[in-house]
Amino acid sequence: MPRIRRVWAGRVACLVMGLTGLVVPAVAQEPAAQEPAAAEPAAQAAAAEDAAADPTRAEWTLDNGLTVSVLVAPDAPLQHTVTFLPHGLIDDGPGHTQWSHLVEHLILRHTDPEGLFGEGYELNGETTTRSTHLDTYAEPHAWRTTLERHAAWLQPFEVDAPLLAREQEAVTQEVLALAAVGSTHKWADAAWAQVVRFGAEHVEVVGAVAGCTPSQATAALAGITGVRPGTHVAIVGAMPLEEVRVAVEEVFGPLPAAKPVPAPAASGAAAADAAAVGAPGDRHATWDLPQRHYVAWYALPDGDVVDRAAGEVLAARVNGRLALATAIRKPGLFALAGADLITPEGRFLRVTVGLPGEVELEPVADAIDDAVRDVLQPGIGVQPLGVFLWQWAVGAAGDPEPGALRRDRERAGRADDRLEAQFAISPMYRQLGSDMTREQRLDGLRGLDLERLEAIASEFLVKTRRASLLLAPRD
Ligand SMILES: [Zn+2]
Repeated sequence: MPRIRRVWAGRVACLVMGLTGLVVPAVAQEPAAQEPAAAEPAAQAAAAEDAAADPTRAEWTLDNGLTVSVLVAPDAPLQHTVTFLPHGLIDDGPGHTQWSHLVEHLILRHTDPEGLFGEGYELNGETTTRSTHLDTYAEPHAWRTTLERHAAWLQPFEVDAPLLAREQEAVTQEVLALAAVGSTHKWADAAWAQVVRFGAEHVEVVGAVAGCTPSQATAALAGITGVRPGTHVAIVGAMPLEEVRVAVEEVFGPLPAAKPVPAPAASGAAAADAAAVGAPGDRHATWDLPQRHYVAWYALPDGDVVDRAAGEVLAARVNGRLALATAIRKPGLFALAGADLITPEGRFLRVTVGLPGEVELEPVADAIDDAVRDVLQPGIGVQPLGVFLWQWAVGAAGDPEPGALRRDRERAGRADDRLEAQFAISPMYRQLGSDMTREQRLDGLRGLDLERLEAIASEFLVKTRRASLLLAPRD
């Protein structure tokens, strides 16, 4: 579903692109003094006690494996709930391009055939590179209803032909409408996986959805929905923590754990391996969308959480450099870096840009090379590396630090009734985009220093290790 009902302001405006690690923290907040600072066992125990005593935040796992995070924001007018399903556009199997997106539509339309709202609540969904999310915004009296809706969304069902036909058409229209205004980033990630992981030379982004049968849709849905490793429910709002905890256990506790699904295997072409996916060099493929799209990517190290945190920081930093590139700062051009291309073959930092009309590839590709090469350099609006790293680590905690929220509320004039949700969900996206738990991500950022960042950039983000893909319409 497209997010068309509101334009989200401020720090989470990037979410609609489904790319994480894209936004520099909007403000330099005070250091997160409440964060546990050391990895000593005693300190960890103390931190755990602090966490237990914190009435505003909790994260736990139900017996069935569902992970739940709750953030209490006392001034939030709405209770926001998001279910994250651990399957995104780069996880679809060979030839099944954006079936995850189709499944997202089927899940929502199975429970709500018309509209995206009910008595006291709104709902929506979006499929991103690494996850599918289903969300609700509820007035307090309607929250329990929406929680039950989330539980219903986690249960597989048999897809019938009329529902499938209707959503195939809806997905097709949505993709073509976005492509017509130059927005092909998400579909380029989907196509990237088909070309690079499964050896496709032509990708049917729209056509693969049209070709899905009811039994295939039922099987795809069964493989995505359900409670499985990585399924996560996040709840933000004014409701007290204990009340939320009781409701969550009642509503989600009885759900069974889903059966594991095997990873998609390549049909025909040899299955990809890490070396093939990360191999430097230029690739070309065609697709059934009307504009060209260019993707450049670099293999990232993945030895520990510090490596993973470094990937995220470097991607954010590349975005800062891209904003300075004159070849890219043009109407209709929108280049984005992210470290969220995470596949069974490895982790990759990629820069992605649509090429509308007559825009020439070469200056754009060169500007991307330059932005990556200069990733560590300061510039106008790009802070010195040490300041940047500190700000990023502080922002990563994402706690509703009272001063920051108050400032944002004043800026928004409180017209934005979703502010708290946006504040909390932004780090959640980065957490999911980096495939780490909150604690792992914070540990990774705490362990990252300038020396490590420089070493990774100089070894991995170099032109001789760059791979690229140009997607173009088939003549
Ligand atoms: Zn959609």
